[in-house]
Amino acid sequence: MGILNEVSDEESQHGGQEGNVALQKKRASFPSRERHYAVRRKTRSHSPPFHRCNRVPPQLPPAELLCDSDYGDSSEERKTCNSCKCPREAHDVYHEEWVNVRERLGFKPPADPDRRPSREKTISEGFSWVPPGLPSHKIEEYFQQLPPGKVPRLGSPGEKYRDKQLMLQLPKQDLALAYCKHVETQHHPSYEDFINARNEIALDIGYAKDSTSYSSECPQCHQVVGMSELAVVAPKFGDRTLWHPSCFVCSTCEELLVDLTYCVHDDMLYCERHYAEQLKPRCAACDE
Ligand SMILES: [Zn+2]
Ligand SMILES: [Zn+2]
Ligand SMILES: [Zn+2]
Ligand SMILES: [Zn+2]
Repeated sequence: MGILNEVSDEESQHGGQEGNVALQKKRASFPSRERHYAVRRKTRSHSPPFHRCNRVPPQLPPAELLCDSDYGDSSEERKTCNSCKCPREAHDVYHEEWVNVRERLGFKPPADPDRRPSREKTISEGFSWVPPGLPSHKIEEYFQQLPPGKVPRLGSPGEKYRDKQLMLQLPKQDLALAYCKHVETQHHPSYEDFINARNEIALDIGYAKDSTSYSSECPQCHQVVGMSELAVVAPKFGDRTLWHPSCFVCSTCEELLVDLTYCVHDDMLYCERHYAEQLKPRCAACDE
């Protein structure tokens, strides 16, 4: 016992030193990310969740959880829907014919008709989503810049990838109280305040541009986005900040922001899930 203890003490001291060096290096190269985690730690400890469920189901990551009522009770059954046997993560998406993120968020249609999503146009192009703002002949060029498995071509794995990301990045229970089954009445005003403030300050939908009259440095990869290149614009960052289509990702999960729907926090891009989790802890049981 004595010998084992000595060895592990030595190891932990040694490991501690290496750990410090690694931490310093990381701080130096990712100042904003470190700051982001610091902010996250700070806001987390001060902000109680809207509620906490007593029953925590075992071993399922929070992202895949939905409320008990829709699913079987045993842990085997939990992964599929009782009524239609669809996979849990795709559940709410499979029940809707065509998902328009703007409607899902309760946003008004954009003033610019070129940026208005149209079911007929999208389906006739052969996709379940196309970037708003682009003429038809630029859509292929845009999608060529994305990993092939993430292009939402109808009937392809990319279409399923988008459905899953809609569910993960824009959880319905974050969008309106009507979808929350477990938020107690006394927390409803604070939930409404949270949603209203988020919609006003943080949450928005980006659009694509097929050319610009200026070039800009992409905030994600720090390479130039040229004037003739396709670019993504996030209005909350101003229209002079341009991203490469493949660089418009959440700072936490690093997934492409689904349908260009983003939140801004401390000058960084997040999906709605990871924005909300910085401000309010999420219940591990029902994901609200
Ligand atoms: Zn289902
Ligand atoms: Zn880039
Ligand atoms: Zn994310
Ligand atoms: Zn809960």
